Amino acid sequence: MARKAEPYRIKMVESMRMISREERLIKLQEAGYNPFLLRAEDVYIDLLTDSGTGAMSDKQWSALMLGDESYAGSKSFFKVKDAVKGIFGYDYVIPTHQGRGAEQVLFPNLKKHNGQFVLGNMHFDTTMAHIEMNGMVAVDLVIEDAFDTQKEHPFKGNFDLEKLESFIVEKGPENIAFIIVTVTCNSSGGQPVSMENFRGVRKIADKYSLKIDIDSARFAENAYFIKKREQGYENKSIQEIVREMYDMGDYFTMSAKKDAIVNMGGLIGIKNEKEVYQDACTTCVPMEGFVTYGGLSGRDMECLAVGLYEGLDFDYLESRIGQVEYLGEELRKRGIPIQWPVGGHAVFVDAGKFLPHIPAEQFPAQALSNELYLEAGVRPVEVGSLLLGRDPVTGVQKKAGVDFMRLTIPRRVYTDNHMDVVVEALAKIWDRRDQIKGLEFTYEPKVLRHFLCNLKPIEG
Ligand SMILES: *Cc1c(COP(=O)(O)O)cnc(C)c1O
Repeated sequence: MARKAEPYRIKMVESMRMISREERLIKLQEAGYNPFLLRAEDVYIDLLTDSGTGAMSDKQWSALMLGDESYAGSKSFFKVKDAVKGIFGYDYVIPTHQGRGAEQVLFPNLKKHNGQFVLGNMHFDTTMAHIEMNGMVAVDLVIEDAFDTQKEHPFKGNFDLEKLESFIVEKGPENIAFIIVTVTCNSSGGQPVSMENFRGVRKIADKYSLKIDIDSARFAENAYFIKKREQGYENKSIQEIVREMYDMGDYFTMSAKKDAIVNMGGLIGIKNEKEVYQDACTTCVPMEGFVTYGGLSGRDMECLAVGLYEGLDFDYLESRIGQVEYLGEELRKRGIPIQWPVGGHAVFVDAGKFLPHIPAEQFPAQALSNELYLEAGVRPVEVGSLLLGRDPVTGVQKKAGVDFMRLTIPRRVYTDNHMDVVVEALAKIWDRRDQIKGLEFTYEPKVLRHFLCNLKPIEG
């Protein structure tokens, strides 16, 4: 597929190198077959995450110098506040050190009593953790088609609206803390939520007097997909679509490390409820810092105020998402099973289908990730059974809906040539896939084990 070139040129470069295959094997063994434990300098193309890994623009780097490092009332804070009002139309904003900071400050203030449910399309892992740490229960209600990787569906991040409403009716609206719409839906493969589905969620929320929080890490990528795929939006600007999405929410929590293209930062937005804002301020001070910096320096806030607007640029989004699509299409041409259509920020390879001889409890997606590192120095990340963990009560390994290997593309960082390296490497592995072995633990931490565990290939 011919696609348009990047709408920017490269002004500064960072050298990287590929260490030899022998060295990579040693490094991987030292890392306990866990790519999280590799040193970044031993990685050639780092596709672990798109979080905080984007390249800032000349405008962001120069804005950094304007940072006002005042504890209270810094002028950099007001630039963020103006950007939030201008883009989303929300009156109140609290900066936080990153997305999970926003969650830990806002969520306890949305709870009425312990055991309340939070209903989402699919919760991101830290989001679920903050819900549970605050005594609430997270429930995923994404459409069934999200788990059928081969099925064509333009909005695999959508809520199953029937399930949403019947859940509320069954448990009673007084037992629902709030609804959370994650855009794009990270956990189902960076898949978008349609405007029509948003409207459906809002209608149900209104019917039962519930509030909506928008988990907003990839708000602009979601708007891009609406423009490209939803009837009636082809001639609307990204800004107009974003505003229409946020008109349907009451609050947002945002990791600014994704679509706002900064290396660190997060935000809470509150549309108009002063009381919620005041409660959140009270929680923010001991957790994140004073309410006009929330764990950020003035220079961070300057870059954020610029990045929020840059993330909305259509040409940039077309090039960025086009690159992710290019990678996905090239892999698909070679018969490699991926979540289709590809999402906004990553290509999710269906490792269960790639390595059908490796059962879920031997972590096929982790085995494939390690193989890709050995083949070409590329670091992907496992999003499957290893990440999912064990049932806390029985200790039995849970089985992921799909064992994904995620190839996450940082913003404005790599070229299509880098994508070609990934494609070629995976095509080679595809040809010898039956030789790849499953993994077993040599060290398994009790919680969030995927970050720090050690593994080894199962011989025989
Ligand atoms: C990244 C992310 C978060 C958490 O944000 P951090 O900045 O990593 O703390 C929450 N929700 C979603 C959907 C995310 O992608």
